[in-house]
Amino acid sequence: MAYVISDECISCGTCEGECPVGAISAGDDKYVIDADSCIDCGTCAGVCPSGAISQE
Ligand code: SF4
Ligand code: SF4
Repeated sequence: MAYVISDECISCGTCEGECPVGAISAGDDKYVIDADSCIDCGTCAGVCPSGAISQE
């Protein structure tokens, strides 16, 4: 299962640069993860300051 970003996201952008496959991008009101690209490495969840990223 891919990782997902919740409404707790404060759009800091930290996760986007940490994703090894470029699966994270800025959405309308929060950052989003492309489920088809995500390889479930968990790196993004470890760097998010608001704990907004978790496995679905
Ligand atoms: Fe990218 Fe890994 Fe986060 Fe998936 S779990 S979005 S591959 S950093
Ligand atoms: Fe949002 Fe967390 Fe990513 Fe920052 S690191 S953009 S708060 S999901």
